[in-house]
Amino acid sequence: MAKYEKFKKNVLEASLWLSEKGYFGSHRGTGGNVSVRVTESAMAITPSSVKYQDLKASDICVVGFDHEVIEGKMSLKPSVESGLHAIIYQKRPDTNAVVHTHQLYGSVFAVMNMSIPPLFDDVAFSLGTSIDVIPYALSGSSELAHNVAGKLSNNANAYILQNHGILALGKTIEKAILHAELLEKVAHIYYLALSTGKPVSTLPESIVELVKVVRNHEVKES
Ligand code: 13P
Ligand code: ZN
Repeated sequence: MAKYEKFKKNVLEASLWLSEKGYFGSHRGTGGNVSVRVTESAMAITPSSVKYQDLKASDICVVGFDHEVIEGKMSLKPSVESGLHAIIYQKRPDTNAVVHTHQLYGSVFAVMNMSIPPLFDDVAFSLGTSIDVIPYALSGSSELAHNVAGKLSNNANAYILQNHGILALGKTIEKAILHAELLEKVAHIYYLALSTGKPVSTLPESIVELVKVVRNHEVKES
């Protein structure tokens, strides 16, 4: 049990912070899920449909990428998005934590089916040059996991899930949360900028190319 204690605490603390800040879209709801990689073939992940205010470290499940439950209470099922989280860890060795939220401004672009272009260099270095939309599939379905897998080769750390929410990836859980926060900031700014009706300025192509080279190198190195 003690083997996974630290990872379960990390998932719990991240979930509570995101819930308190409204990232799961509603305070009484159970939307969103959080995981961290615990070994080369398993993750610690939030249980399905448990209110975050009621969540305890011992409720966090440990699940193999082959869907086998390694640790967990009999009464709790792992998140329905476990397959989606598992596919990310398998396809992206640079990623050790995944946050899926229903955050407000990220969700605005999810329902507009609209990606967010490169607007700030610091955000582009952290998240990638474009925050792309992953095509819709039913929550918790293997089709959604498949659609996510199809986008991961762009090496981004943030994605919009069409008509659903967002995904943020990180080398650590702190980074994954930061990436969800940065996505929300940039989505909010882009929304406000678009609502003025004036043209929105994006980063010059030379900077976009520079960021791509640096990011691809970073992902390869990890
Ligand atoms: P879970 O409660 O099963 O994690 O599902 C929430 C969700 O956001 C599904 O996309
Ligand atoms: Zn969701």
